[in-house]
Amino acid sequence: MSVLTQKKKKHNFFAGPAILPAPVLEQAAAAVVEFEDMGLSLLEISHRSKQFVGVMDEAFALTRSLLNVPDNYEVLFLTGGASSQFFMTAMNLLPQGKKVGYLNTGTWSDKAIKEANIFGEVVEVGSSKDEGFNYIPKDYATPEDLHYLHLTSNNTIYGTQLQSFPTVSMPIVCDMSSDIFSRPLDIQKFGLIYAGAQKNLGPAGTTLVIVNKDLLGKVNRVIPTMLDYRTHIAKGSSFNTPPVYPIYVCMLTMRWLKENGGVAAMQKRNEAKAALLYGEIDRNDLFNGYAHVDDRSRMNVTFTMANPEHEADFLALAAEADCVGLKGHRSVGGLRASIYNALGLSSVEILVDAMKEFGRTKG
Ligand SMILES: *Cc1c(COP(=O)(O)O)cnc(C)c1O
Repeated sequence: MSVLTQKKKKHNFFAGPAILPAPVLEQAAAAVVEFEDMGLSLLEISHRSKQFVGVMDEAFALTRSLLNVPDNYEVLFLTGGASSQFFMTAMNLLPQGKKVGYLNTGTWSDKAIKEANIFGEVVEVGSSKDEGFNYIPKDYATPEDLHYLHLTSNNTIYGTQLQSFPTVSMPIVCDMSSDIFSRPLDIQKFGLIYAGAQKNLGPAGTTLVIVNKDLLGKVNRVIPTMLDYRTHIAKGSSFNTPPVYPIYVCMLTMRWLKENGGVAAMQKRNEAKAALLYGEIDRNDLFNGYAHVDDRSRMNVTFTMANPEHEADFLALAAEADCVGLKGHRSVGGLRASIYNALGLSSVEILVDAMKEFGRTKG
């Protein structure tokens, strides 16, 4: 069955796993049945076959070209989710007894801090916990003795996003799980970037890592083979069997990104979608934005109902308009519309129409 002929495609606002472009789903579905006229499914061929090695090579090349990755950086597709990067970054980059800075902007930063504490001394350089993580701390100090600074570029749960990255004297390690490929990046600003695929890049099952290789090999602890970035660099992310299908779907998504103008074009689309939705939140008295205006995410739009008792009614009205995935994260409640790259402006228009309609019935 073609995705485009599914009886009714919903407007998918889920936070993750999340929407993928329709042409990507079609090609991904076809590859499960038959891959490159091999008479075989992509799921039943060797990861060492020339066909799959071709997929892997294209995934690396597309990552490099879409994000302008300099030559001294390595690109990896790993397993274990972004959550494994919480410890893997510190295990590989933070020498015993050294200090490391973390900006605490929410649940994911909090979890990353907990893991880094196993390997060194964590300095929380700033935190927005005091206001329920609804803003990004600014003007925090980054003492020179911090080995690196860890940031979360987009806070999926709270709907805040770093609109720019600080200039600091140490490398920046950044969790970009929910906004990678949503805007151009100056990769040189970062020592390491990681992103679980299932928000803005592909299906669950692989994690993209971009690392400046000059930073590796500087710790003296014993690192298990599978947890050492150098193992995966040496073997082109195929030291063991890589997650072949998630990597294939990420590659297809990156092809789609390239065909649609790359990350600069995505940034424009994302800004237009965000402006439309935040505009209605600000205009409509029944809704309130959650994040401080300057720190609003272009990926996860968090908001609440002025009257919390209206929430179920609004969700029902939105569902009638085929808008799904709008319930806020279980830890904060309220509403959240995730508007990742693959979501079209027309879906946001339909949601905004539902908000206006709700205003007419309750206003
Ligand atoms: C979803 C998410 C994670 C966790 O990703 P897993 O792949 O489930 O481990 C980490 N950080 C951010 C910013 C996220 O959005």
